[in-house]
This record gives sequence, C-alpha cells and structure tokens, in this order.
Amino acid sequence: MRVPVLERLVAPSIAMALFCCTGLSLWAQDRAADRRRYLDPNTPVSDDPQRIPVRPGPTGPEGAIVLTGGRVFDGTGTAARPATIVIERNRIAAIQPPAAGGRPAGARIIDVTGMTILPGLIDLHAHLTYGFGTAEEPWNLAADHVEATLRGVERLRYFIESGITSVRDVGSHGSVPFRLKHWVRQRRLPGPRVFPAGQLLTGTGGHGAEGLRPGSSLWTYVREVSGPVDWRNAVREQFKAGADVIKIASHFSPEEVKAAVEEAHALGLRVACDCETFYVDWAIDAGVDIIEHPLPRTDDAIRRMAERGMSAVPTVTAYDFVFDERGGYFGSTSRRFGFSPARNVEMIRRLKQAGVKTGVGVDVVGINYRYQLPAYIRELKHFVEAGYTVAEALMAGTKTSAEILDMDDKLGTLEVGKLADVLVVRGQPDRNLDDLTHVNLVIRDGEVVVENGRVVIPRHPALPIPPPVGMPR
Ligand SMILES: [Zn+2]
Repeated sequence: MRVPVLERLVAPSIAMALFCCTGLSLWAQDRAADRRRYLDPNTPVSDDPQRIPVRPGPTGPEGAIVLTGGRVFDGTGTAARPATIVIERNRIAAIQPPAAGGRPAGARIIDVTGMTILPGLIDLHAHLTYGFGTAEEPWNLAADHVEATLRGVERLRYFIESGITSVRDVGSHGSVPFRLKHWVRQRRLPGPRVFPAGQLLTGTGGHGAEGLRPGSSLWTYVREVSGPVDWRNAVREQFKAGADVIKIASHFSPEEVKAAVEEAHALGLRVACDCETFYVDWAIDAGVDIIEHPLPRTDDAIRRMAERGMSAVPTVTAYDFVFDERGGYFGSTSRRFGFSPARNVEMIRRLKQAGVKTGVGVDVVGINYRYQLPAYIRELKHFVEAGYTVAEALMAGTKTSAEILDMDDKLGTLEVGKLADVLVVRGQPDRNLDDLTHVNLVIRDGEVVVENGRVVIPRHPALPIPPPVGMPR
C-alpha cells in the first residue's frame, strides 16, 4: 500500500481526481508517470521517457518546412482532410486549410499533391542488433560489439525508409542501443528515435537465457536475475545505462516481479513483460505496465489488464513467422504451451473487446528483417482482422503506440506543438494499408531524412584548411 505516501504528497481532493481520471484504484502503487507531478509542466525536458530537465531554448534544425497539396490524417480520430502543414525547427507550428496564407519567410515548400501526410509510425518491439541467422542457426545472436553496432546502423536505415520514426528496442547487445539512440539524436546517423530497454531481464534459465553457454556473447543481451534484491539491482543497471523502459521476461516469482516493477516505477520507467499463463497474473498483480506478445492468458487476466490501465503489444506477425518458417516449434523450456495463428489474432480481438490499450510492435528478428515494412503492414492487417477499422489500426501504430511509449505529449499525432515526426506516402493508407509501401517523404525531429523514398544524407560541410603557420593569411 502506497496510499499514505501519496496522501502526504498530494492534497486528497487532487489525489482522488488523479485516481478517478487515470482509472487507478486506491490500492495501486505509484506508476512511472506519477513522478511527473514533481515537474513544473513548463520545464523543458528530454524527448524521452526519462524526462530529464534540459536547458530552455530553441531545439531542432533552423528554418521551416511547409507541406502543401496533401491530405492530412492527423491520428487524433478526425477523418483525413486536405490541409497544409507548417513545421518550424522540430515542431509542428500550424495545420492550416489549403487556401490559408502566412507561411514563414524562407520556408522550404514541398508539394505533396496526391499524397497523405500522417504521423511517423512507431514500432514498439524491435531488437536492433540481433543477428541475421542461417537455416541451421536461425537466431544466430552471437556477435561482437562491432558487428552488433554495424547491424544496428544498417537497420536504423530500414526503419526510417519504412516511415517508422520511433523504435522501442526491447533487448539488444550491450551498450549499442544506447549509442544508436544518441547518434540519431545528434543527427549523426539517419534513423528513427530509439527508445532502448538495454538488457532483457529474466529469471535464471528463463526466456532468453535458455541453453546459453557460459561465455556466450549472448549474455550481453540478457541478464539472468535471481531473488528480489537482484531484480532491483538489474533494473538499476539498465537505468544507469540510460534505459527508457525496462523489459522483463518470465520466469520470475511474484516477489521478484513486484520488486522489479516497484524499482522501475520509482525510477520513472515503465515495465514491459514477455510472459504467459500464470506469469501474466503475477505481472498484473505487481503492476507491470505492458504485456508483450499474444501468449496464452485467461479472460480474467485480460479483464484485469483493462481495469488497471495496462497495455498490450501483441506482435502477432513475429508468431506468424514462427509458424511459417519453423512450424510453430519453439524448442524452448520457457514456452511450454500451445497456440495457433488464429488464436493469436483472436488475442487482439479479446484485448480490444475488453478495452485494453493495444499498440503495434513487429518483433522482426534475425533473417526476418528482410520483411521490414511488409511485416509492419501485416501486423496492422491483423488488427483489422480482429475488428479494427483501417484508420483505427493506423492510430494503434501512431497515437496509441506513443501513449504506450509514454511519449504521447510529444509524439503520435499531428498537432500543433508536437515534435515534427511526419510521414508522407502516395495514396490513402487510412483506406488501404498497402499504400504505406509508397513512402515518399519522412521527416524526423524536423529534418527531412527520406525524400523520394530514399535516405538523404546531407553533404558534410568541409572547412577550408587554414594556411600553414608563418604564411601570410
Ligand atoms: Zn522480442
């Protein structure tokens, strides 16, 4: 029970309003976002879930971009409409009727007639550094830091070319995902925003750690954890490395998952859990924020997920590949249950019917990276099969996924004041998802990263070499 602490910190009436608005019950422990109440809403903070206060002042590239002639699907639930979008530095400055004037002086005007402007897509479940694998060793995760880094750099391009402007990395090689995040943020690499978890935390012999030999380089992806104190330490290690989210996997004991969640929430981070069956129940009891994958769970568990405001990221497409390419065979001690492609899609329907917030993650790993954008579209089509409209499926991949990332105040919809992560595709993807393949323009953080479907790498501005010492200037 954390209520007495809350009562000391927040006036009771505000506390009641908070509980009513967020759907939290009085027994709920503090959640990651509860830390926000200590921040003045006007304090500028880092553009990630860490919300570190930053120096006030302009951010993003200088200048303005105006997108004219297109139809705007803003992701808020409003139907697509003809409109002009004005971007100043890295923010959306205005969304105007097509005939409106008042463009910023010197703005770059881009004509997007015949195209749809929508929020950049979000992939909530990626492993940027996993290996490509072979038929004999499909997961082939073993790699040194150099290869893992190069793979990550290569895949950042696949994502951004696909119109995916944010990626949550839920387990990758050592410090590589953190470095990738910073290099993209500093505009030194083309790619999406990276929101890394660091290592996957799992009980001894749990999912991700099955059969790993001592000395295997895979230990850089996975941290085996044992006992509540060690689970707290493992969370702190990821926080220290710069994690934006904590990723855990079954198995664990009820005490262990509770310790991990308490520690993560105290540090301001959400917890995503790869778990199934009764581990889902224990994770719900502990207050986990997000359940990954379509793995088996009861209707009662789904009802409790909805009741407690928890989210889901079903990643059904990744499980299609388990069936298509491996006959549904896992060969894993942590996966002792049955499922089927139909039951996996049915999981999205059950989550929707119960009112669980559900986001889009594709989890293409290994050789399946060759399917990047088609896999994302397939995942959205699974949402449609499960009862979403096409527009609702697109909103699951933008607005809802930004909410699950804890970034919906900055990302996920096209609204004035939000960060300028914008995708422009030929056609009408809110009516036909396959139009997402016609990526024309991608703007991330106010910068054109993809133009005419290709990554733009600006020429680096070389400085003149100064004259040798002693020579007249
Ligand atoms: Zn995964």
